[in-house]
Amino acid sequence: MGKILIIGAGGVGRVVVQKCAQNSEVFNEITLASRTLEKCEQVRKDVKKRTGKDINVAAVNADNVRELTALIKKVKPDLVLNVALPYQDLSIMEACLAAGVNYLDTANYEPPDEAHFEYSWQWAYKEKFRKRGLMAVLGCGFDPGVSNIFTAYAQKHLLDRINYIDILDCNAGSHGHPFATNFNPEINIREVTQVVRHWKNGKWIKTPAILDQKSVHFSFNYPVVGNKESYLLYHEELESLAKNIKGLKRIRFWMTFSENYINHLRVLQNVGMTRIDDVDYEGKKVVPIRFLKALLPDPAKLGSNYTGKTVIGNVMSGTKDGKKRSYYIYNVCDHAESFKEVGAQAISYTTGVPAMIGAMLMVNGTWKGKGVFNVEELDPDPFMAALNKWGLPWKQAEFKGKLPE
Ligand code: NDP
Repeated sequence: MGKILIIGAGGVGRVVVQKCAQNSEVFNEITLASRTLEKCEQVRKDVKKRTGKDINVAAVNADNVRELTALIKKVKPDLVLNVALPYQDLSIMEACLAAGVNYLDTANYEPPDEAHFEYSWQWAYKEKFRKRGLMAVLGCGFDPGVSNIFTAYAQKHLLDRINYIDILDCNAGSHGHPFATNFNPEINIREVTQVVRHWKNGKWIKTPAILDQKSVHFSFNYPVVGNKESYLLYHEELESLAKNIKGLKRIRFWMTFSENYINHLRVLQNVGMTRIDDVDYEGKKVVPIRFLKALLPDPAKLGSNYTGKTVIGNVMSGTKDGKKRSYYIYNVCDHAESFKEVGAQAISYTTGVPAMIGAMLMVNGTWKGKGVFNVEELDPDPFMAALNKWGLPWKQAEFKGKLPE
């Protein structure tokens, strides 16, 4: 029986709370804290309606280490699960160290004034967590998260050596809006407008951003949903997997984008609406991307008319007993079914379920350790079994398709 403190009452937070409430064998006390108490109250009511369970709620500014430490000391959880924004990662880790509590998140740290994310800031906490006898698990959503677990599983059971990994993330769903992002618009747009990188033979190779006419893309034939244009994109698990998977020759990440999405984003970028710096507007300072976020649909509310499916998985190639082998492990998730179950679309669902599973494995003592870990460093087997049980069943097939050289 464990106590969990979840920080962030957004699209993903709602799913994590619902799934923890469904899993009352492990989580007997749940507290949801976020900047806006009203959003926590809405989730509380919905959880009661769907599961009959009561949760506690609190308002907190997670940028303020003192305020957060006081809350953690009051709640006394076994684990703090961070599904606020990447900007809060370091302050939440600091508060966990101060209060002596384990930590888990789904996205790596990003400074608000620079559209750049990397693990170095959080890896720097390894020694502090180790000395304190605490465990921090980073990037435990779907990608990063399940994509790392699929890799660890292939390394443990399928291949003696993994040479090539291609992570393919397809959202073939339709939300009915002219333009919307599936998770926090500010974080999403900062991510997808970056120069792209992938890792090959020990080096990072740069290619044009997805909005550039020269971006790298190809049509991949996804199971269930068919051919979709998939763009090379930089994603954070490339950094940890390139470090942790020995013998790797190349790792890439591909994500599907519709022409409509690319066109809208290109126009927004061209007119300056994706800028992250202060702009003077009638004597006030306005950050255009934050203003844009205020105009766009809230991803947490996209679910009601969302149809279609997501297909996310890894193609992994290498050798087994001296023979060349190639495997594809993937999950298919349905937007409307996710909405029916927890009141959220499939992007929030595919992120929130793995976060609950990681939390469960930490709270019940299956995953143990002192320091800071990426999920591929932990045992994938109980996680893979839990994906099947908790709503994200996966399939494994020999991969016979073609990928760009
Ligand atoms: P939302 O914007 O919907 O939710 C974020 C929540 O955090 C909001 O409720 C917000 O409060 C709260 N918050 C923001 N700042 C603070 C603060 N200083 N103190 C307390 N609470 C705060 O985002 P999502 O739910 O879409 O995404 C959540 C996280 O999940 C992000 O880090 C995202 O990058 C990650 N993610 C990971 C994926 C993966 O597969 N690994 C995929 C998708 C998302 P308020 O409502 O008051 O603004």
